[in-house]
Amino acid sequence: MYTNADRETLELLAANVAIAIENARLFDEVQKLAITDPLTHLYNRRKFEESASKEFDRSRRYNRPLCAIMIDLDQFKAVNDTYGHLAGDQTLAAVADLCQKNIRNIDILARYGGEEFVILLPETTASQAFLSAERLRNDCETTKIESVQGPISLTISLGLADLNKTCKTLEELLDRADQALYESKRTGRNKSTIWTVHLSHPL
Ligand code: GH3
Ligand code: MG
Ligand code: MG
Repeated sequence: MYTNADRETLELLAANVAIAIENARLFDEVQKLAITDPLTHLYNRRKFEESASKEFDRSRRYNRPLCAIMIDLDQFKAVNDTYGHLAGDQTLAAVADLCQKNIRNIDILARYGGEEFVILLPETTASQAFLSAERLRNDCETTKIESVQGPISLTISLGLADLNKTCKTLEELLDRADQALYESKRTGRNKSTIWTVHLSHPL
């Protein structure tokens, strides 16, 4: 038999447990918000840099292959100008979903900038990553994206760079992928390019 005093003690305990559970839930939510891009639900750039630098260090230390892919939507300003920002946002989120669908769960995918995405592929050479990049590019090209303004078609350009002896930092790897992406843009868009030394910025 419980007395009234027991009941009061238990009620007090239950109230405190409820507060602790709610605090833990809020803490989780805040942690998740801090690493997630709200539009695409992908990792944000900060989380990418944190996870990617660990992977970069591991790959360099153990001499394992590693590849980065930079992705940029083609003529995206025209999508916004033609269909409006809401449809533009829906297009961005749909491309994020296509990226997510095309990666393995060991790959690290993030929204890197406004309409730019990045994927880091552990244990993957540039020629293997090129196949994934082309699959994703083709997927985007052939998908009709549903939006408030009706179906929208768009293409993406991609740049790839892999870890080799001359690549010392994650920043350098991403910069090379960016140079390769720029080459894809320069040579007509809707294509994937693997970085080579010829694409380096002039000193
Ligand atoms: P390019 O093929 O050379 O990349 O051309 P582009 O038009 O995609 O490139 P540009 O850099 O001129 O424009 C990028 C556009 O992306 C401009 C900006 O308004 C749009 N953008 C960036 N972030 C967002 C976003 O969160 N939502 C929407 N709707 N648009 C965005
Ligand atoms: Mg663009
Ligand atoms: Mg851009």
